[in-house]
Amino acid sequence: MGTVIGIPIYFHFTFLIILPVFAAFFALTNANIAGITLGFADLRVSILAKAMLGILCALLFFFTILLHELGHSYVAVRHGYGIKSITLLLFGGVAQMEDTPREPGVEGWMAFVGPAVSFLIGLVLIPSSLLLDGVRNPSVAVQALQITCGIIGFYNLLLGGFNLIPAFPMDGGRILRSFLATRVGFLQATDTAVKVGKVFAIAMAAVGFIFLDVFVILVAIFIYAGASEEGQMTKLMVALDGVKVKEIMNPTVFWVEPEVSLDKVLEKMLKEQRTAFPVVKNGVLLGVVSVGIIGRVRAADRETVTAGAVLNRSPAYAKSYMDAVEVLKLMGEQNDFVVVLDERDDLVGSVSKDDLRRIVNVLGVQKGI
Ligand SMILES: [Zn+2]
Repeated sequence: MGTVIGIPIYFHFTFLIILPVFAAFFALTNANIAGITLGFADLRVSILAKAMLGILCALLFFFTILLHELGHSYVAVRHGYGIKSITLLLFGGVAQMEDTPREPGVEGWMAFVGPAVSFLIGLVLIPSSLLLDGVRNPSVAVQALQITCGIIGFYNLLLGGFNLIPAFPMDGGRILRSFLATRVGFLQATDTAVKVGKVFAIAMAAVGFIFLDVFVILVAIFIYAGASEEGQMTKLMVALDGVKVKEIMNPTVFWVEPEVSLDKVLEKMLKEQRTAFPVVKNGVLLGVVSVGIIGRVRAADRETVTAGAVLNRSPAYAKSYMDAVEVLKLMGEQNDFVVVLDERDDLVGSVSKDDLRRIVNVLGVQKGI
């Protein structure tokens, strides 16, 4: 959806849901916190004008979230770390990095700059709003501007504060890890930061239950899951550190021809104990057929439907000489099978999610993780 300083910007579908909700909330409410008006409900203009102002504020707010993410990205890029993309979603944004910086100082600094941007925006706009509030006999336009400054400023302070919670996946979790990593090493620091995050999430959930606040409980679950995921991810990355794809791949190459029926593919899967096969014709890789794909074809049809008819034509693939971490990055919700090619693009092996899990287990024990 566009590129800023060379970084592609995406909108997650949750963002498209939340945008009108924010717009409506700004247009139709008149919440007032510490003398700052946070909605246009009491402004003496038509409902249509309120709706427009609501939309404008929602867009402006998400623009400031983008600035927050660009703050992170700027520091990352300056230290030589690539940013793949920035995605705006329900609770804010995510800058997708190519690698987590292992230099403790860089990660902490990078994490800190995002909330700093949000605070800076808040610290400029809140006084502006209060200043405009002091205007005598203000016109409707001045009032609208004052409320806009108030809304954007207030929610930026909230965003900055929320992100400083010392728990993954918030920026505060990264700042905490960075701080600890200078003393006890990356892995130990991650472990401690994950524990702090979990304790924080449990405490938050308890508060949510006491006050029967669904939103607080949801955020607590979000933090707990994020903390666990970061812990897992870090262990995987440390286990795979310095290992090449060819060392973790399954080198025995099994494959099927596109004319083979799915029944036969399933038989071969049982025999060879695989969950997916590359589909190859005349030495050319056409795609991948997996047990997940076959599962979506009716059992009665599997005798006639061929592998060539249902295969995934754009499978994930890695080169044998790449770092094994690349395979980890390719394995997502969409992929549970990565095809491995050599320098000449010849099929030399594969890695399934199970293969990866097994090998990481062994590497973890070997490295004492
Ligand atoms: Zn951030």
